[in-house]
Amino acid sequence: AMQRYAGLRDLPATTKCGTTLRLCMNAGLMADLPSLISSGAEGVGLFRTELQFLIRTRVPQRAELAASYRRVMDNARGRPVVFRTLDIGSDKILPYMKRIEEPNPAMGWRAIRVGLDKRGVLKMQLQALIRAAAGRELNVMFPFIADGDEFACARGMLTEQLEREAALGHQMPTAVKVGAMLETPSLAFASDGFFRSCDFISIGGNDLKQFFFAADRENERVRRRYDTLSLPYLGFIEMIVHRCAEHGVPLSFCGEDAGRPPEAAVLAALGLRTLSMRPASIGPVKALLRSIDLTALREVIEEGRALGVTCLRPAVTRFLADAG
Ligand code: PEP
Ligand code: MG
Repeated sequence: AMQRYAGLRDLPATTKCGTTLRLCMNAGLMADLPSLISSGAEGVGLFRTELQFLIRTRVPQRAELAASYRRVMDNARGRPVVFRTLDIGSDKILPYMKRIEEPNPAMGWRAIRVGLDKRGVLKMQLQALIRAAAGRELNVMFPFIADGDEFACARGMLTEQLEREAALGHQMPTAVKVGAMLETPSLAFASDGFFRSCDFISIGGNDLKQFFFAADRENERVRRRYDTLSLPYLGFIEMIVHRCAEHGVPLSFCGEDAGRPPEAAVLAALGLRTLSMRPASIGPVKALLRSIDLTALREVIEEGRALGVTCLRPAVTRFLADAG
């Protein structure tokens, strides 16, 4: 499939109406990195750091982590890499961690909640990231931020670690950007101050959608019951786009929906300009974006709204069939 789109690799994801999107890739292992060059991705929009913890039988050491983050950045050859700090708990359980039984792990003690309560591992990970980024830019994002205070605490931890590393005489990153993953509906309603305090925000659509519809992403019975292209959800995404635009916060979308061509097209029509997806999706998404006019797609969305339909998929499918 990648061959079919090889001719598009070095072409921009520019729509018929002249809007250019940045298409980045999601990664989680060293083995994913050759795809960065072959797919034509403009960077790694989401590096899931928990996989490197999951494949070991003990907590990795700071030096090992720093070495692997350094290799990730080396392999990106100057393209930006956004490291997402540990998102353990929920569906990702570390073999060497004491397992705690929770009735609803996806809504339980996971991700930044663990990081802020048991600070040792997150501190160590932040130190490893800072060391790995010596002399270059560091992009860090915190997962599953549910309110502005959590982001302020997490950001504060990073600032402390930067000060510590500087005091120890380590070479510093040239710039540090700190972002929040918007994966719980609550964060969309956080204060203006929260939005202003973010260097960027990335929508984690997999989690955001499960919490928006209260439909477990792991449960086959309900997983596909609610469509990403339903207007209530799209309206919510649009609200996030507006809040970010109002405060000049760069916004991206990094859930699996970003890699589905019709969904990617609609996200672009709603105003998303950066999408991060599995590398194999970059070609198909780029091909579709290059064939459509976002203003016309925007009209399809408005018509659906005026008609009061719940789901836009039939209309979007028709529009895309005519465009292609
Ligand atoms: C998401 O929730 O959309 C996301 C990108 O993170 P993960 O799939 O790792 O939970
Ligand atoms: Mg998530």
